[in-house]
Amino acid sequence: YFITLEGIEGVGKTTNLNYVREKLEQRGIEVVVTREPGGTPLGEQIRELLLTPRDEKIANMAELLMVFAARAQHLESVIVPALERGAWVLCDRFTDATFAYQGGGRELDAEPVALLEKLVQGSVRPDLTLLLDLPVETGLARARARGKPDRIESEKHAFFERVRTAYLEQARCEPARVAVIDAAPSLPDVQRAIDIALERLEQA
Ligand code: C5P
Ligand code: MG
Repeated sequence: YFITLEGIEGVGKTTNLNYVREKLEQRGIEVVVTREPGGTPLGEQIRELLLTPRDEKIANMAELLMVFAARAQHLESVIVPALERGAWVLCDRFTDATFAYQGGGRELDAEPVALLEKLVQGSVRPDLTLLLDLPVETGLARARARGKPDRIESEKHAFFERVRTAYLEQARCEPARVAVIDAAPSLPDVQRAIDIALERLEQA
């Protein structure tokens, strides 16, 4: 299976990704944990380019193509080979983040994003997406407590409201794939909701 974790900054993707990883590894499943943008040496360099604050404004289309360039490398060298040998892939962000950040946040049309999704991924799509959801205020407060904001984290509140709205809209359109997990309750409650989504995936 191909599972992705999504959400705005500070929703607890890393903590919950480790939870899912451990749960699966305990069952003897081979789990490949990876992230986007990144996941390969080239992808990590593109991530650096995307996240380092800079004076030059990156054109929205350039940002979109950089994200998909990293993704093309990631699919060919990590994700597809892992899925083909029967491993489970756990990915911290994937194309839903592109619809949310470059589409929602940057206000790019969904059409070029969807076009690139088809071109770069063919039929590869996540089987399950765990969308960790929190109000923007709460998420940003948690993320900012972690330290210096990256280029994206320095965006305004309204940017993240658009990102969150775009994520929730995707969940509404694809309820079978995208499980919205309320990330506000205590960790055990969040993880119970994750367990239920994983059970549903394996029963499908
Ligand atoms: O998942 P993580 O928070 O580590 O992501 C790193 C940064 O990349 C975040 O600030 C996120 O907002 C940004 N990002 C983006 N567009 C994507 C994926 C991630 O702007 N498609
Ligand atoms: Mg971050």
